Amino acid sequence: MLTGREEGHNPYSSAHNLDGELGMVARTFIPQGGVILVEHPVIVVPADMEVDASVVGLDEAGSQSELYGALFSRLDSQMRKEVLALKDCSASPNAFTTRGIFNTNALDVRLEVDKRRKFQAKVQEQKYKALFLKTSRCNHSCGPNAVWRFDRLSFTLTLSAVRAIHPGEEITISYINPFLPRHTRRTQLQSKWNFVCHCTHCDAPWTFPSAISQSDKARYELSTFFKKLPDWEQWCFDENNEQFMIERHLRAMQMREKEGLEGFQDGTGSEIVAYMKHIDALVMCYGALADVQGFTKWVRKAREVKLAEGPDNALHVKVLDLWLKEPGKFYVWGWKRL
Ligand SMILES: [Zn+2]
Repeated sequence: MLTGREEGHNPYSSAHNLDGELGMVARTFIPQGGVILVEHPVIVVPADMEVDASVVGLDEAGSQSELYGALFSRLDSQMRKEVLALKDCSASPNAFTTRGIFNTNALDVRLEVDKRRKFQAKVQEQKYKALFLKTSRCNHSCGPNAVWRFDRLSFTLTLSAVRAIHPGEEITISYINPFLPRHTRRTQLQSKWNFVCHCTHCDAPWTFPSAISQSDKARYELSTFFKKLPDWEQWCFDENNEQFMIERHLRAMQMREKEGLEGFQDGTGSEIVAYMKHIDALVMCYGALADVQGFTKWVRKAREVKLAEGPDNALHVKVLDLWLKEPGKFYVWGWKRL
């Protein structure tokens, strides 16, 4: 049982899970698409190079650990205390290093860097590692109920729910590409984070030995789903195959639910969450079939998620409301019936 510490009006709090690890747990119901938290990074360093000594005020190039120590010392005292309380998976509890803490918890983000040479402006995308204080508390699952996205314009990370999360449930993210087979996932987690994953997807029951291979197969199929999906317009003008496209999406949604992969498209870290792509596709299909019942069902679902995602979607919700009122106004209404 997770016992949480109250933390203001946040929908989450810090708590110990069944393994005694500190994690993040839902305090209130969080709907699919709902925002759990928004935060700025506390430390950002280039991913492919070590920290430059001069940046942190060291004259001579000290060891990398000293450099991380110098970076940490620039944080205000409260923040530094919180950062130092994070886990260093490479060390025993009392032998942590600042570099170890950083490497255990930092997430990969991309930023645009101005690589101007003389008069030529050249903006390039570059990989960085960023440490986020709150999101660092999220433990891993191979079927996580949350995903994070980093927006480089506002320099913020948003953590949101990919399926409904109930009070008391642990909030998890994936540290690795979750489409990989279980053996590879476990190897990667063990080598970088020093633990054996015992999530429900890795610990399949002994009574059902083929569960692992079935899960690996399903994950592979899902990772290539959108790449292999036939063209929508082609389906539209094919007189046979009426339900074919709808069945493909419904089957994929069911598989995602079973594997806990609602939030991931194909492991490339794409910005659009997978379940929303399926919902949009089903709206298109039922609209093209001029099927009012199916169309209404999926527009309502899209509306529910868009509302949960936040006030930025007000215009989008207005359009969905219009389609609910007058399905015939949908831009491809009845295309497959023509
Ligand atoms: Zn796992």
